[in-house]
Order: sequence, then C-alpha cells, then structure tokens
Amino acid sequence: MTNVRSRLAPTPSGYLHAGNALNFLFTWLMTRTAEGRLRLRIDDADNERTRPEFVADIFAQLDWLKLSWDEGPSGPDDFFARHSQLLRRDRYRELLARLAQAGDLFSCACSRRQLQEQAGSRLHPGNCRERLSLVPGQPLRVRVPENTEVEVNGQTVALGRLMGDFVIWRRHGLPAYQLASLADDLDYRINLIVRGQDLIESTAAQLFLADRLGETDFARATFVHHPLLASPEGGKLSKSHQALSLRHLREAGVQPTEIYRLAARQLGIASPAITGLSDLLTAFRQQTAQGANVLFQDLTPK
Ligand SMILES: [Zn+2]
Repeated sequence: MTNVRSRLAPTPSGYLHAGNALNFLFTWLMTRTAEGRLRLRIDDADNERTRPEFVADIFAQLDWLKLSWDEGPSGPDDFFARHSQLLRRDRYRELLARLAQAGDLFSCACSRRQLQEQAGSRLHPGNCRERLSLVPGQPLRVRVPENTEVEVNGQTVALGRLMGDFVIWRRHGLPAYQLASLADDLDYRINLIVRGQDLIESTAAQLFLADRLGETDFARATFVHHPLLASPEGGKLSKSHQALSLRHLREAGVQPTEIYRLAARQLGIASPAITGLSDLLTAFRQQTAQGANVLFQDLTPK
C-alpha cells in the first residue's frame, strides 16, 4: 500500500472503553507500519449525545496510550473551534442535495413503532417510500432496493435485507452517521478504514451511498474489520460497560502496557515481551514483514 491515509474516529457520546483503545491501536499500528498519515476525526454530528467531558476524555485517553496523529484537532478547544462536524453542515447538505437530485431519497417521520405496524417490511416503509416530494424538516431515508448486495472484502453483505432504507438525514438539520462519515472520508482522502466487525454493514451502506454519488474512488479504499473485544458477559462491549471505560481502568491502576499486551494477544503476538508502544510496533512490523499479520492479511491488492 502506498500513501496510506487513515483516521481515528471516536464518537463523543460516552467515555472510551478498552474496545475503542484496541481499534485505535490497530489503526495506529497499520498506519505507522505503512508510513502513512493518520487523522483524528471526532464524530460529533449527533450533537444531542455529545458532552464536553466526553470530548476531553478522547484527548486524555489518546495521550495516555501515547498515540500520535498527524492531522486534526490538537485538543478540545481546537476541536470545537475548527474541527467539529457541526461546522461542516453545508458540505453534508451538498451531498444530500446530490442524492435528492438523483431521486434516491424520501421523507419519513415514522416512529419505530409506526414502521413495525405498517404492512410490509420494517426496513422498507412502504407508504413513505412511494412519496415523490420531500417534506421539509422531516428525516430522510435513502431507497435501497430489497435485493441490494454489497461486496466488502470479498464478503457479500445483503444491505437491502439488513439495513433497508436507512436514515441519512435526521431531524434538526443534522446528517446521520452514514452520510457524515462518508463525506469526511471522501474529503480527507482516507484510503484505510479500520473498524470493528460490528460495523461491516455500515461499510456496506457507505459503499452504497458512494456509488449513488458517483464517488467511485471510495470503493478502492482498504477496509479492515477486526474482531471485537467481548464484554464480561460475552456480548458486545459498549459504552454502557462503565467498568471497562479507560477512565475507570486507569483509576483502578491499569497501565497502558496492559492495553498494549491485550492488543498483542488479539494479534497473535507474544505479549510478555511487550513493555511499551514501541515494542508493539516493532513486533507488528515484523509480523507484517513475515506475511503473518492478521490485519494486513485481509488486504487484497488493489
Ligand atoms: Zn415513514
């Protein structure tokens, strides 16, 4: 891979947890190994859930993990002044207008319950879907034909069946995650996107949108979906697992080395030898050079 450009994309809707740390570490390791550039992008388009302490937490935990980035905000004040997604609403609107012009959008203000009560599919709200004119102020969905399938790293994702006509514009004039994330990845020319396995459907949704927008370069980006860290109960780790927030772990005396070793174990690297981030990077580079790296193995030559 040449001229790799990747990003760390935390959401300030809760305190970061150990699973987020693993994703940042994997992204950082891959980008540094490829001698690429890394951007910090804080996904705050959903401003109803953003809290300043969660933004501050992102910088505090990246600093604790000693993870560096080359582009993006230097701290919370810089973030709110120059980098918030709320400052880019005109750009999101522009992409929205292009989708609307192509006739791909429809207004739908139905609640989840209303959608369930409607005849037909919960994912394809029949009545609203047939509307031709857009209703100002209402959320917008994109029409996804039921049989739509999207290839992600050789895996077929049945987007139409799994996500249906997903929301791309919310109330209060704000973009939904799928549109904002795609717009930012396009504008910052991101070509390495490292996500947890749970986001493979989002990758498919964004590939679908990019295709509808004629942004064909996006499909040439490299997408890596890594296994998730399980919660103590065995399910998906989420921000509701306060005990596994990095903030809480630090208060309990956990050191960054333990997080690096956790990442090493996930990557199949012998963890006792890891005493710092540079050890982890060295081991990761060796593994990559030997063709034994589980993350790079997913990559198909483009
Ligand atoms: Zn509806």
